Amino acid sequence: MEYFDNYFLHYLNKREDFDRFYLQQGVLDYLKEEKARGRIRNLGFSYHGDVPFFEYLMDNFSWDCTLIQLNYQDWNEETETPEGTRIMGSLYRKAAEKGVPCFVMEPVRGGRLASLPESAEKLLKEREPNRSIASWAIRFAASQPEVVTVLSGMSDLNQVVDNINTLSDFKPLSKTDQMVLQKANGNAVALQAVACTYCRYCMPCPYGVDIPGNFKVYNDWAASLGFLDEDRKPSEKQKAEFLRHYRNSIEKSARADHCIRCRKCLELCPQHIDIPAEMRKIDTIVQDCLNASGRGKI
Ligand code: SF4
Ligand code: SF4
Repeated sequence: MEYFDNYFLHYLNKREDFDRFYLQQGVLDYLKEEKARGRIRNLGFSYHGDVPFFEYLMDNFSWDCTLIQLNYQDWNEETETPEGTRIMGSLYRKAAEKGVPCFVMEPVRGGRLASLPESAEKLLKEREPNRSIASWAIRFAASQPEVVTVLSGMSDLNQVVDNINTLSDFKPLSKTDQMVLQKANGNAVALQAVACTYCRYCMPCPYGVDIPGNFKVYNDWAASLGFLDEDRKPSEKQKAEFLRHYRNSIEKSARADHCIRCRKCLELCPQHIDIPAEMRKIDTIVQDCLNASGRGKI
């Protein structure tokens, strides 16, 4: 090929870096020249910073496209990043205000929105029995008028086929669909104990802890209980079920008690989960369940 259809400045997240590399060192001018020569058709950037920097980029420069994270669960939520606070809906709305077409990354939130707690899935299945749970996330992103492309990481053929089916003969979410999705999401968020997407960016833990595995067992248990708070304690039977599930799912050497709180995983987690604190919580639950069962160790 003699040209790029879409050329993205990679991973913009800090204004000082952008000003230094792209403005002071002349890279943006060079790319504009390449665009004028026809070697770049659309010039844009992929974004990982806070809302004010995004607004600065949109208000002060001319872009043909942008690549932003967008999913229904974080649409109105404030997400704390090392660079500041981000609200996904705000990034999209700013791009739309400027008429800049959006490419979407992470529409299924690292796979987290491919399955939801039972009560949330039930709502979506009642509305669309033949559609997958992940398809709702893809449709939410693709339903936004300024979204031109939805990028989704896929790990097997079924996911490829499902995504193709979702976007072939595409039907945007109706008002009723959106209400159903909002309700299902409310249930899912309420039942989530740890906001882990199971992306595995934190792995491997140098001390062998299976971080996403521990969170999965914990989240499944919390979702099956329908609650997990100080006032309503799980029954003996529910504790025994947790122990059984934990023992069967997590190798001895990969359990939460092996976390020595070295904190090496913290900066790797895009969800900014306090992993060692959560590991301590899981270990306390395990110990509590063990005490209830009268067993000394798992
Ligand atoms: S803080 Fe715990 S889970 Fe994280 S890397 Fe260290 S030992 Fe592993
Ligand atoms: S703890 Fe964070 S980095 Fe690790 S799997 Fe979960 S979301 Fe990903």
